[in-house]
Amino acid sequence: MGKALIIGAGGVSSVVVHKCCQNPDVFEEICIASRTLEKCDALKEKLAGGQTKIQTARLDADKTDDVIALINQFQPDVVINVALPYQDLTIMDACLATGVHYVDTANYEPPDTAKFEYSWQWAYRQKFADAGITALLGSGFDPGVTGVFVAYAQKHYFDEIHQIDIVDANAGDHGYPFATNFNPEINIREITANGRYFENGKWIETPPLSEKKVYDLPEIGPKNIYLLYHEELESLSVNIKGVKKIRFWMTFGDSYLNHLKVLENVGMTSIEPIVYEGKEIIPLQFLKAILPDPASLGPRTKGKTNIGCIIQGVKDGQPKTYYVYNVCDHQECYAEVGSQAISYTTGVPAMIGAMMIMKGIWKKPGVFNVEEFDPDPFMDALNKYGLPWKEDFAPTLLDPVKVQA
Ligand code: NDP
Repeated sequence: MGKALIIGAGGVSSVVVHKCCQNPDVFEEICIASRTLEKCDALKEKLAGGQTKIQTARLDADKTDDVIALINQFQPDVVINVALPYQDLTIMDACLATGVHYVDTANYEPPDTAKFEYSWQWAYRQKFADAGITALLGSGFDPGVTGVFVAYAQKHYFDEIHQIDIVDANAGDHGYPFATNFNPEINIREITANGRYFENGKWIETPPLSEKKVYDLPEIGPKNIYLLYHEELESLSVNIKGVKKIRFWMTFGDSYLNHLKVLENVGMTSIEPIVYEGKEIIPLQFLKAILPDPASLGPRTKGKTNIGCIIQGVKDGQPKTYYVYNVCDHQECYAEVGSQAISYTTGVPAMIGAMMIMKGIWKKPGVFNVEEFDPDPFMDALNKYGLPWKEDFAPTLLDPVKVQA
């Protein structure tokens, strides 16, 4: 069918590459391009011999002209951006200049401030519409599948959605005292930021990790979950009409939080540059360099993830609840593609998003979040390509409605 340019060669990229190669009818040819060419070549070597033709290229995606040059040379139908959020805009500019569709898994972040907002990318809506090309934002798991889950609930089960609680649980154990499951810089920025949730048209801020509950997750058991801000809250608050409350919760183990507290207290999680022996360094980037590479956690991680949406609302005038979730086993992912479940649950939907565009199923000019498309073909593809989902129509709620005596 066509060609995809995959930018980035880290944990998520590795899964995208494996999954594209499992679907050679759609992805006839791919080019893996990243800052470190050796990582691209190593991926190519792993997958050589399949039907999908693989090229590699060294690319600094911070440089729009370099991305344009590579697109002109490789002539892809779609660019899958699984580098870092800092590269989103330069890559979108290159897609605009060349008329190629764009997919990513994380919102643009300016390198000097952690914002977690879509404003910069949504500002490209008219330009993509005028160019007749699609930008699909946040096609990972969360954001990504969580938005598709909500769109599916809206389409099939609710007249009005009133409350959404997204619960992201990782019960995996990699045996290290402290390591992050994906890019440490992005991960730690996210967790050390203030929590925030949407209620009745307003955003309510909470101090980092100050809201905690215990939730009994299917196939995982009871876990401590903490309220965080997460980027899909912004797009869902706009795209799900009439929603009153949206929150995001993530599990953290006590040991992880203790380590994080100490690192924060000594200044190691800061993104403010400091001068060390005459050279400017960013503490969080230095910390990233000494922590285990997320890609190395695959063979060590045992256990499961469970990510899903608990939804409350109304159907035919009656209150209704619905929980849709995916459970993913770290070791099964590793056996299939050589990565743990965090990379797997992000890489599979990134491949599916690109596939939806290449097949013309999710293709309209402009910039869109996943929940703005028909969820059904994506939900089918999740079942088919490794992330089957389950439903529960009587889930435990995080805020059960109090019944008056
Ligand atoms: P990694 O750090 O493992 O990989 C990032 C890759 O991008 C590396 O290969 C890196 O190159 C490359 N890269 C960085 N800067 C540039 C640049 N200027 N030009 C070209 N390549 C560059 O990260 P992950 O694979 O864990 O994460 C990838 C993306 O997925 C991130 O944006 C992350 O936020 C997102 N994500 C989304 C999730 C979701 O559910 N939506 C969940 C998890 C992650 P080098 O090897 O040289 O450093």
